[in-house]
Amino acid sequence: MDDNKREMLKNLPKIDEMMLRIEKREGLAGFPKEIVKESCRTVVESLRARVVQEKGETFRLPTPDETDDQAAEIIEGYRSYRLRRVINATGVILHTNLGRAPLCREAIERIVEVARGYSNLEYDIEKGERGLRYDHVRGLLCALTGAEDALVVNNNAAAVFLVLNALSEGKEVIVSRGELIEIGGEFRIPDVMEKSGARLIEVGTTNRTRLSDYERAIGPETGIIFKVHTSNFRIMGFTEEADLPSLVALGKRHHIPVVNDLGSGCLIELDRYGLEREPTVRDCLAAGADVVTFSGDKLLGGPQAGLILGKRAFIETIRKNPLNRALRIDKLTLAALEATMVKYLRPAEALADIRVLRALTEPVADVRKRAKRLAAMLRRTLPERIDIKLVTGLSMAGGGSLPTQEIPTLLIGLRVAGLSAAFVEERLRRRELPVIVRVADDQLLLDVRTVDPEEFSEIRDALKEVLAERCVKTPPTRSISGQARSDKRGK
Ligand SMILES: *Cc1c(COP(=O)(O)O)cnc(C)c1O
Repeated sequence: MDDNKREMLKNLPKIDEMMLRIEKREGLAGFPKEIVKESCRTVVESLRARVVQEKGETFRLPTPDETDDQAAEIIEGYRSYRLRRVINATGVILHTNLGRAPLCREAIERIVEVARGYSNLEYDIEKGERGLRYDHVRGLLCALTGAEDALVVNNNAAAVFLVLNALSEGKEVIVSRGELIEIGGEFRIPDVMEKSGARLIEVGTTNRTRLSDYERAIGPETGIIFKVHTSNFRIMGFTEEADLPSLVALGKRHHIPVVNDLGSGCLIELDRYGLEREPTVRDCLAAGADVVTFSGDKLLGGPQAGLILGKRAFIETIRKNPLNRALRIDKLTLAALEATMVKYLRPAEALADIRVLRALTEPVADVRKRAKRLAAMLRRTLPERIDIKLVTGLSMAGGGSLPTQEIPTLLIGLRVAGLSAAFVEERLRRRELPVIVRVADDQLLLDVRTVDPEEFSEIRDALKEVLAERCVKTPPTRSISGQARSDKRGK
């Protein structure tokens, strides 16, 4: 090591002195000492590493002001929110990575109202005594679906887990091999079943399972017959499955309850709006399923929740299961769910106000009109060198729903002379308010179907900013032990 380096290492900023200076800075007083210290140490250590590695004479130590700035940026970084709203211009309507279903206005208002103060979450106001949190949505859910009783938990994976444990722990669950699905995020139905304490009895083959396969598997150890709606994929071609009514009849003969995991629970007859028919929750209950489970934030378009509906005696058993306490729904979710379900009392309102339903059912002619408006808005404000045109394409339901549904859409195609689409995509993504887009053939594509008109001006501003500056300051990344956390995380 040469003298110059040795000298620089000796002159590295002293952490104590840095801390004193930083704590005097406006806006940085009052942070926990440990955080300030750790941030200073991070800066000094990375500087030390640079000095050690540096070859050549050009490198100089930054001024105290500069190193203070770096530490301040780390500290401030903790304050910038990492969980943020984004604009979804991908055309994937239920985007699992982008939070699935946006909430309707009333749901948001109810969250704020209930969060603001105390609530009657578990208090029966009429009687002045302890109540059940489920009672706030029970009547509504039963009225909307024809169920006898209802219970709500944290999400549908929890619902499946709880139902299996409550009704079939230590017993056998009969399920078709064609329905042993993975849902994403490595959630596999067979794994959940195993953890629930139920023993899995697979029947049939991947593509064909007959009623007689179920019948042969029934024995003294059978707890439930389990049917999983293959909501996120389809088996095509040479296929056969036992339908729900025949499973229900089989269950009745043997006094075995039939549980139907619907995945993406749907209350609206989608085929009336030009989409594939999904079995509605009412259909399944009417067909005699003893218990059905589904998500709150897939086709229903509400908050993350797991809904469990069915015959009173079973719901009662499930409600009393100790695991229910660990999986229970929280009050903010409940507030949002109640407001979302109220929307369904008037299906026309649900279709208009629940964004997932609106995006799924909006006629392509209307999407085109909106796309034209956005394109005109962009042409007025963006520089001439940008080529803007309308492109036809397909949106996707996503979120493990309607896997084969083609949803025609209009996209804004953007090409910028001298800039790659990948470059612009990244800049749009790494803003404070990220705009998530598609790229194909070095063209930027914004699917208007998943964009709300209120987001048009935000998209315009984002593009203006990205294309004008070409180099945008990104919000500082919060660091853990000096390691910049990767933004690329799995699902
Ligand atoms: C999505 C899905 C689940 C899991 O639901 P979450 O609400 O994501 O927990 C379970 N079963 C099926 C069939 C699904 O499609």
